[in-house]
Amino acid sequence: MPDVKCNVSECSYNSNLKCAAPMIEIAKNNTAAANKSDETKCETFKR
Ligand code: SF4
Repeated sequence: MPDVKCNVSECSYNSNLKCAAPMIEIAKNNTAAANKSDETKCETFKR
């Protein structure tokens, strides 16, 4: 997986603003077809 920079520092997988999860799942965020990044979300997020 490429390096993933992530500013969601409160996520359990976040390590110095990089994602340390072995794999992440990204999904559409309450839309049938995403047109901008706001319409996507990280499903792997864990508090
Ligand atoms: S799992 Fe998602 S929210 Fe958590 S650090 Fe990785 S990319 Fe960010």
